[in-house]
This record gives sequence, C-alpha cells and structure tokens, in this order.
Amino acid sequence: MGTERAHEAAAPLAAKRRQLEAQLAEMSAPEELGNISFGKRIGEGTSQAVDRLSAVPAHAKLQVMLAEVRRAEAKIAAETYGQCDACGADIGTARLEARPWATRCIRHA
Ligand SMILES: [Zn+2]
Repeated sequence: MGTERAHEAAAPLAAKRRQLEAQLAEMSAPEELGNISFGKRIGEGTSQAVDRLSAVPAHAKLQVMLAEVRRAEAKIAAETYGQCDACGADIGTARLEARPWATRCIRHA
C-alpha cells in the first residue's frame, strides 16, 4: 500500500494547497477587521464591511483545511501517507479518494 497512493495524491494535494493559499491571500486577514470604516454614508462601505465580517469563519475554515493539506504532504514525504495520525490504521482508499488530505481514519476524523 502507501507508496503508489501517495504518489497519486501528490499532484492533487499541491493543486489544493495552491488554491487554498490563493483564496486566503484574497481574503482580508481577520486582524484587519478592527480597521473597517463603516463611514458616514450607508452604502458601499457598509456592505463591504459586512462581507468581510461574514468572511471570517470561511477564512478560518480555509486555514484549517490548508493545515490538513500541508500535513498530508508531510506524510507523503515521511512515507506515512494513508495511515491514521491517531492509531496508524489504514485510512482507506475510498476515504482518500474523497479527501486526499485526510490524515486520520474515519474513527479518528
Ligand atoms: Zn485512527
């Protein structure tokens, strides 16, 4: 097991990582939220601020997923790809096909 699956996962993982990094770069960082000006006029500025506020959970979710993708890539390098981080069991091909960045088996997900 392992090697071939890890080899096949490398390209989709790298693509996913680049996509996530690009999405995160486009989003404003959460710490910038304090500087949002609601302005005097109700209009463009306000809806922009609201958009940014609602983007915070999405931003956090992307960061979590990016961490998972990076962890999966580290597992490929360490030749432990496809093994659960918690118990070492085989994560399973079906699960890895659905989520190439999975680093835990279904029991420890
Ligand atoms: Zn496990």
